Amino acid sequence: MSIQAYDLTGRAALVTGAASGIGRATALLLAQAGATVHCADLDEKGLRETTERIEAQGGSSTAHPLDVTDRAQVAATIGEVVRTGGRLDVMATIAGIMHSSPVLETADADLDRVLAVNFKGVLHGCQEAARAMIATNTPGSIVTMASGAVDTGTPGLLCYSVAKAAVVQLTRTLASEVGRHGIRVNAVAPGWIRTPMTDRHDAQAQHRVEAAMARASPLGRVGEAEDIAHAVLHLASDASSFTTGQILRPNGGVAMPW
Ligand code: NAP
Repeated sequence: MSIQAYDLTGRAALVTGAASGIGRATALLLAQAGATVHCADLDEKGLRETTERIEAQGGSSTAHPLDVTDRAQVAATIGEVVRTGGRLDVMATIAGIMHSSPVLETADADLDRVLAVNFKGVLHGCQEAARAMIATNTPGSIVTMASGAVDTGTPGLLCYSVAKAAVVQLTRTLASEVGRHGIRVNAVAPGWIRTPMTDRHDAQAQHRVEAAMARASPLGRVGEAEDIAHAVLHLASDASSFTTGQILRPNGGVAMPW
């Protein structure tokens, strides 16, 4: 094993949520590592910006506007990736939404919407990617995006943390089922990360939240999207070839679960 284990040259990666935040940072980093990066998201304008930035740094990418809640769209995109490039080596299911409401004020519709995007959207990506990897005999890596919210009870985060806990169980279950095909499945569970999702749209409120988050970390700073992209790169690459069914927690040490 050498530093070459991080080299993704010749590999194809599909990143959902690639128009923004952690997904965009991941797409840019996987492209820097040599992968052809297929970027998927609802946000077409953001997708264009991501692919332009990948091309500007000398990388190779394609853009796929899609809604992860629609299995047919996810299947069609993966089908196109495999038809044009012959393989899918890395699937990073990063698209997600935030929802906050106290348990006693949570409507069924809130839960349905968050589960549709944050769990079923991930399930669609995992299932279709694993099928494609098996069909093409590709020992791929699937990386899901969970959250530190799975390790604690946070006021307001019922729908979000339930969906992310389901992602963790999907990750473990799928890892146990597809390992015999050489396919690895792992989750990243970030702590609070500075992205459009966590933007309070109010400078003072943002400063207060970031100061509190930085104080909570032994490292004394908040997390950036690039911190999470590096965790995804590790799990996507051969550097983690003996790692599957695990949760990697880039959270600045804010929480230290067993
Ligand atoms: P972000 O900047 O809001 O990016 C999320 C992206 O996903 C957006 O471009 C969004 O598009 C897209 N998206 C939402 N619903 C979609 C759908 N149905 N189909 C396709 N794309 C969809 O958020 P982020 O902070 O980078 O979060 C990325 C992932 O990390 C999420 O799964 C989030 O739960 C997880 N995470 C984030 C943090 C954090 O502190 N930021 C911590 C732990 C985990 P639109 O903008 O058009 O909705």
